[in-house]
Order: sequence, then C-alpha cells, then structure tokens
Amino acid sequence: GKIFRARELLLPDYVPETLPHRENQIRKIVEILAPLARSEKPSNIFIYGLTGTGKTAVTKFVLKNLYKRFSSNFIYIYVNTRQSDTPYRILADILESLNSKVPFTGLSTAELFRRLIRKLNEVNPIVIIVLDEIDAMVKKHGDDILYRFTRANNELNKSKISLIGITNDVKFVETLDPRVKSSLGEEEIVFPPYNAEELEDILKQRAKLALNENAIKDDVIKLCAALAARDHGDARRALDLLRVAGEIAEREGKDQITTSDVEKARVEIERDRVYEILSTLPFHSKLVLIAILKGLRDKSTLTTGEVYEAYLKLANKMGVESVTQRRVSDILNELDMVGIITAKVVNRGRYGKTKEISLAVSEDIILKAIVESDERIASM
Ligand code: ADP
Repeated sequence: GKIFRARELLLPDYVPETLPHRENQIRKIVEILAPLARSEKPSNIFIYGLTGTGKTAVTKFVLKNLYKRFSSNFIYIYVNTRQSDTPYRILADILESLNSKVPFTGLSTAELFRRLIRKLNEVNPIVIIVLDEIDAMVKKHGDDILYRFTRANNELNKSKISLIGITNDVKFVETLDPRVKSSLGEEEIVFPPYNAEELEDILKQRAKLALNENAIKDDVIKLCAALAARDHGDARRALDLLRVAGEIAEREGKDQITTSDVEKARVEIERDRVYEILSTLPFHSKLVLIAILKGLRDKSTLTTGEVYEAYLKLANKMGVESVTQRRVSDILNELDMVGIITAKVVNRGRYGKTKEISLAVSEDIILKAIVESDERIASM
C-alpha cells in the first residue's frame, strides 16, 4: 500500500526497541529484578496504571532484556488473566509454558498446583510469573490462587517464584486479602498517564517504523496525541487512532493521512467500542439506556428518578416486567463505569444520592448499536 510500510508495528502487541518516557519505571523494575543476576529471588512487584500507560510493554521489555543476559538464572512466564480467566486456565498456562501437558479440564486446581510445585523443583532456580490484568480473574474467582502463589516458596526446594501483578484498577487492590496485598505489593510501581507531548514522541517513533516516509505530517500526529491525551493518556488509543486513520487513507487510495482521516478513525473506534459494550449488556440495561435517550430529547440531563420513570413507561409499553428502582440505580452505575453515560452526584440527601445523568457517547452511535444488537428493541 501507499501508507503502510509495516502496519503490524502499530498493533498493541508489538514492543518497540526503546520506550520513551518510561525510563524511570524501567530503571526501577531493573533494580528490583537485579538479584536475578546472582540467581536470587527478587521481590514481588505490583504495577498500577490506567490502560495504555505502557505497563505490559515495559514489563515485557525489561524481562526480555534481562533474559538475554541471565537466561541460565531464571525463566519468566507471562499470563494475561483476562484471557486465561480462571485459576485452572492460569495454572494450565503456566504448566504448559514449562512443557507440562495439562488436559483442558478434569483435574482439580489443587492437583494442578501440586504438579506446578513438582515441576518447578526440576527447573531453573527462579521463576518470574507475570499476571497481567490480574483484577479480571480476581473479580470472578477471588484471590485464593494469588495467596497460593505467594506461599508457594515455602513448598519449593531449589526454585523460587517471584510475582509481577499488573492492574489498571487501583481500587481492586483494596479488595485483596491483606496478606496477599502486602506480599504482592512488596514493591509497587505506578505508571502515570502520558501527556500529549509524550504521546507525540511515542507516535513519531512508531510512525517512522510503520509508515512510508511521506505518509504522515506533524499535524496528524499532534491530533492523535491530543485525542488520546484527553482519553486518560492512553498510548494504545493513540496508536489505534494512527493505525485506523492510516487504514482509512489507504482504503481511499491516498498516499498521505489527513486530520479528517483521524476524525473518521475516532468515530470508527468509538463505534466499535460501544458496539462491543452493548453486545454484552443485559436486556434491561439496554432498556434503561433507551429511556435515557428518550428523556434527553427534551432536557440536557436527567435525574435518577426521571430515568426510572421513563424506564417504567418503556417497560410497560413493551409489556415486559420491570426491575426495581434499586436495580436501575445499579444499572446506571454500570453504564457509567463502562463509559456510556456520565452520572454526576449532585446531592446527597436523606434518601440517598441524586445523580445527574448524561450521555458520554454520541446518541447516534448508541442508538445504532442498540438497534443492531437487540431485535426486540429494534422492532419498537
Ligand atoms: P498497558 O499494559 O498499560 O495497558 P501497553 O503496555 O499494552 O499498556 O501499551 C499499549 C500500547 O502502547 C502498546 O502498543 C505499547 O507498545 C505502546 N506503548 C506504551 N508505552 C509506550 C512507550 N513509552 N513507548 C512506545 N510505545 C509505548
């Protein structure tokens, strides 16, 4: 194509040779892992930061480089617990990386754990286990497996386990068993969001690798960086914008990306995100969302009470049994959490909080996504 030299270098899995603006985090992790040079167990590390702040890239980068020098002293295993989202899957992944075959189901996690201990006693002295997006699994299955990992060293002879836990949900840490929290958090590292200038540097570096020489100008980079900076400093979002804008330009046969391609890319990415969220929403959550859309035709914000009334009317009209006001209030929190609506507390009264509800995404996008994801609602 005219735009891309190597499009895949803009995909989130690619880890570049250098990671600008993460020198401090890299140095700190290298320091903590320094005992690996002497075949000694490093402290466990807990890494926090919002999505796209470079947590995964930095961790992989450091481990890969240390491994080049000290491969006889340690091994490392990376598990993403959003993908491997059960204790069974996590243990199976780890065992498989140690070349131990595990049936897809059928064993108890206790048995898998025993096998892991047995296996670890055969391998290198130090095993670093990286558990990425660790909150995803813990929310569903609790932190028992983390507790077992932190205690495993008591059962090991020669080998020792060090953990690196990564999460973008700081609040989640407070839900952990205090013993797990203090053990996993022996060392803590925070990844702050990137600002627009930092994102520009990251984008420039990647554009050089992935795009043809004249396919991009500074104003396009600046726009991608500014948009992603507003989106909590997310480098993944910045790179997605650049990649999708490039795809749009290439589709249209152009040899240069323009700011209007970036604008189109923004809408496309937003739409995909909303589609994905809505496709997993339960029926009544969608109904609440429609009630909000209808209510917002006449007003700029709605109170929680107004949303509930509009929802009741809608449920009635459709002939479906309604859920309680309490449940609607939970649904509003959930919609706020996933970034479809904004719920702002305006008053803490005797009877609970009053919130002002508005949309966080354009009405058009939501409406199209709802209609396409639910036939019952589409037929209204
Ligand atoms: P997180 O794990 O915090 O969600 P990632 O490490 O997956 O974020 O980073 C998201 C994307 O941004 C990846 O493609 C990664 O390579 C890139 N990225 C993040 N930080 C940097 C950086 N400092 N320099 C270059 N690329 C980066």
